[in-house]
Amino acid sequence: MNDKIIECKICNNKMREFESNNPQPLLPDFNDRVCRDCNDYVTASRVVLRGMEPHSLEVLGGFIVNIMKVASSLKNSREQYVKQMEEE
Ligand SMILES: [Zn+2]
Repeated sequence: MNDKIIECKICNNKMREFESNNPQPLLPDFNDRVCRDCNDYVTASRVVLRGMEPHSLEVLGGFIVNIMKVASSLKNSREQYVKQMEEE
């Protein structure tokens, strides 16, 4: 089994390679991998954006990825803050 540790291309969380997923259509590079949490959004986008013209999909996909990146960094800071509060 391939249990190499890699990073999610969207939220940067660590995961085992065999747990990672294909990020299309949100990221164009087939070598990129995403975690299970991000993959729910990838799958939702695949369903919701089905049939969209490739250029629009690329632009919109870029926006969605940026929103996910900012949101996951907000989530990480919030979780870190909560953890700090609990330790004090
Ligand atoms: Zn992720």
